Amino acid sequence: MTTISHSRPSLNEREALAILEVIRGGEIVQGSKVRQFEEAMAEYVGVNGAVAVSSGTAALHLALLALGIGKDDQVLMPSYVCTAVLNAVNFTGATPVLADIDSETFNISATSIADKLSTKTKAIIVPHLFGQPADLEALINFGVPVIEDCAQALGAEYQNRPVGSLGTLAVFSFYATKVISTGEGGMVLGHSQEFLDRIRDLRDYDNRLEYELRFNYKMTDLQAAMGLVQLSKLPEFLAKRHEIAHRYQQAFEDLPVTCPHEHPDRTHIYYRYVLKVRSKLEEILTECERRRINFRRPVFKPLHHYLNLKGFPDTNQVYQRALSVPIYPDLGAEEIDMIIENVREVVKGIENSE
Ligand SMILES: *Cc1c(COP(=O)(O)O)cnc(C)c1O
Repeated sequence: MTTISHSRPSLNEREALAILEVIRGGEIVQGSKVRQFEEAMAEYVGVNGAVAVSSGTAALHLALLALGIGKDDQVLMPSYVCTAVLNAVNFTGATPVLADIDSETFNISATSIADKLSTKTKAIIVPHLFGQPADLEALINFGVPVIEDCAQALGAEYQNRPVGSLGTLAVFSFYATKVISTGEGGMVLGHSQEFLDRIRDLRDYDNRLEYELRFNYKMTDLQAAMGLVQLSKLPEFLAKRHEIAHRYQQAFEDLPVTCPHEHPDRTHIYYRYVLKVRSKLEEILTECERRRINFRRPVFKPLHHYLNLKGFPDTNQVYQRALSVPIYPDLGAEEIDMIIENVREVVKGIENSE
């Protein structure tokens, strides 16, 4: 019996042929394919421009630098997110300030931010976690630049507008198992030509008259060719994710678990399908592992645990209860049936053993 992985990319011959074409063309580094991919993403999201980079982390780092953020500044972010976000802020020398989340949507809580804002706050990083947009209107109303972290939410909408088009800047990741993939990769999108120009300048180091410490954050045409094919498949990917989420919702309705909450004015793309179990998450994870299905904690460890900070009651509650059920376009019908059957058996079995 093979294991059902927690996630995997959806690739076929089309990506392979696109990469082959780039190799035959002989220009493999940042060139015309990168430009095309940037234009296609900017058009899809509905912004003025985009700058492709080597990862989502690099995109966050350059977005912060473009906003002029550095030492003595503070950047707000939720505790319940991966360490990439914390790294990006620390690279700039600014101080990360953590906020709690809304336990229903798993996203940064506007109420929790209010008492963390100061004159030093120069940006709020807002991840649209698991594919559902955060409370953007309330967050933007604080009057501090918002960087939308759309690494998990390409294709989601907030009040009928695509995520990534509402903040001051937006970042995307194209890591292997994100919504669309280039292996590794990322992008910054935005309306301001000034910010975009600065980011375009910062991703490269060569041919500068003055020396200044810089990274090499470029994307290659090999990756961009793959990204273009993946972007053309996005509608199909999103439809598949919805279809699976709908089946899960129906199959888990009668279980003692909380299914994902869908906000009426936002679309959820179900990058992750996250259930909240009543208790005994550890035992459920172990039992699923034994049954060869990789369920996960959707966030490995909240940031305030790494930093030994107290508080964050909603992040703690979610961390103790959130179970990520495999969901991706490449999942086969038999795999979906097996996942449903196993979730039902494991959750019921563990609840009854109380
Ligand atoms: C994946 C991810 C990142 C980092 O992207 P990389 O391409 O892996 O550097 C940042 N933020 C969120 C919310 C992510 O899911």
